[in-house]
Amino acid sequence: MDIVTKIKEWDRLRDDPSLRGKTIGFVPTMGAIHKGHLSLVRRCVEENDLTVVSIFVNPTQFNDPSDLESYPRNFEADRTILEKAGTDYIFLPKYGELYPNGYRYKVIETDFSKKLCGAYRPGHFDGVLTIVMKLLNIIRAHRAYFGEKDYQQYQLIKGMAKAFFLKTEIVPCPIVREADGLACSSRNMLLSPEERKTAPLFHKFLATDLPDDKIRKKLESAGFTVDYIETIGTRRYGAVRLGEVRLIDNINLENE
Ligand code: AMP
Repeated sequence: MDIVTKIKEWDRLRDDPSLRGKTIGFVPTMGAIHKGHLSLVRRCVEENDLTVVSIFVNPTQFNDPSDLESYPRNFEADRTILEKAGTDYIFLPKYGELYPNGYRYKVIETDFSKKLCGAYRPGHFDGVLTIVMKLLNIIRAHRAYFGEKDYQQYQLIKGMAKAFFLKTEIVPCPIVREADGLACSSRNMLLSPEERKTAPLFHKFLATDLPDDKIRKKLESAGFTVDYIETIGTRRYGAVRLGEVRLIDNINLENE
C-alpha cells in the first residue's frame, strides 16, 4: 500500500499505462477508520481492481471550530487497518494541496442542502460538496462509495454528480451498526461511558412507529438534545446531541 500526498504524484500513477483497462474504486473519509468505513473499503476492493482511500479532515465542512479541533485523528491505526482491508493507495493531502486558492470557489446546492443537517450546520454541505467535487476530479475513479449513514450527504453527492455530468459512479452502502444498534461513527469515541450507554436509544426510538414529535419527546426525556427528527417520504432522519457530541442517523421506514 502506498501513501500519496500530492496530486501530481497521483496523476503520474493514475495515467501509468499499466493501469489501462483497470477499474479504480474510491472511498473518501475523514479518517478515524471504523467498521462503517471498512464496509465501504471492502466493497470497493471486491468491485474494483484498485482501491484508493482518502483521509482528509475537511475544515470547510465544519461550522464549529471546536468540533473541527476535537475531531478524532489517528493516522497510524488507520494505515494498518486500511492496508489489511486491501487498500492500494491512501490519498493523504494537506489543506494547501486541495485549496490552492483558499475557499473562494465552492459548490452550492440551493434546496435540499438547506434542510435537515443543513439548517443546523450552515455551510456544512457547501464544504462537503466542494471537497467531494475536488476529490472526484483528482482521483478520477470509476466508482466512489458513500455510506447511507449520512443519507442526506449521499443524496446531495449523487445529485451533484448528475448535475455536473461527473464520470464517477456514486455507490451507496448500507449503514453499519454496533451490536446495540448505534450507528458506527468516528464521533462515538468522543462519548463518555455514560453517554455511550444512552446513545443506542437514538436508533431504538427512531425505528419505532411513533410520530416524529413523540420520538423527539422520548429522546429529550432520555437526556438527548434534539436538533431534528423529520420524516421525508419513506425515510426518517434524526440529529441529536449528547453533551458535546452530535450524532446523526436515519431509517428507511419501508424496512422497519
Ligand atoms: P466520514 O469519515 O465520517 O466522512 O465517513 C466517510 C464515509 O464513510 C462516508 O461516506 C460515510 O457515510 C461512511 N460511513 C461512516 N459511518 C458509516 C456507517 N456506520 N455505516 C456506513 N457508512 C458509514
